[in-house]
Amino acid sequence: MASEKSSCPITITPLFSGSSGNAILVSTEDTRILVDAGMNCKKIVEALNMVRINPFDLNAILITHDHSDHISGLDVFTRKFSIPIYATRDTWSGIHRAEKKPHLPSLDYEIIPEQSFSIGNFDIIAFDTPHDTTGSCGYCFSTVSNRAAIATDIGYMTPVIFDHLKGCDGILLEANYDKDMLWNGEYPYYLKKRIDGNNGHLCNDDCASTIAALCKAGTKHFILGHLSKENNLPQVAERTVIRALEEEDLIRDKDFTLRIANRYVPTEPLMLGGSL
Ligand SMILES: [Zn+2]
Ligand SMILES: [Zn+2]
Repeated sequence: MASEKSSCPITITPLFSGSSGNAILVSTEDTRILVDAGMNCKKIVEALNMVRINPFDLNAILITHDHSDHISGLDVFTRKFSIPIYATRDTWSGIHRAEKKPHLPSLDYEIIPEQSFSIGNFDIIAFDTPHDTTGSCGYCFSTVSNRAAIATDIGYMTPVIFDHLKGCDGILLEANYDKDMLWNGEYPYYLKKRIDGNNGHLCNDDCASTIAALCKAGTKHFILGHLSKENNLPQVAERTVIRALEEEDLIRDKDFTLRIANRYVPTEPLMLGGSL
């Protein structure tokens, strides 16, 4: 007799994270979804092999937005493996502009933020993110037992994003730059303004205060992602977040776990649904 599944743990495995390329695997035992394909096809395949996933076994690729660090490998990867792709209408326009050769349109799915859709045993909902391209979004994944979210390339933390993150078991959130490192750094003024602006990226301080609020609301597992190579350091981002949580009397590995997504190689998978 088939019994209804009462548990369907979600695993988040960042393959690459940062302005040099982004691809994050979100999976259950039966369903494997890649969020973004911003590294060349060969490297994505290598990274998938490292975490024992056959690219042909991916159920879907979800794209957050059309910047090259999120779609640069999509063109070749899709023609090779024929995986269905999901993106908002404006992101599709950007993908088509960037494509060197068109792929099969039968693989294209247009999504609308705030309208849920299902892939395998996931219910997924996209939410708008403020960034310097149109159609940019993050994703929230639900199974019968868990909820997880991916939110990077965010100019600032909006109430809409926060509502989607609140109550998740695990979250990958952007910690792009340290304000002092950015403003004392080598970038030209216009770029500093862009990164620090409302359509740029999320700084460590804003990431930290968001994580503290989310942790108080019940989220236990956090991954910091999309760290800037020039304007951040893993230990600086980590220290900023830990400090904000300690100010709320939240203790690492007792009240929450924290890891940093690696820029170039797969990060240790975060499996939700365990004890902590
Ligand atoms: Zn990016
Ligand atoms: Zn971007």
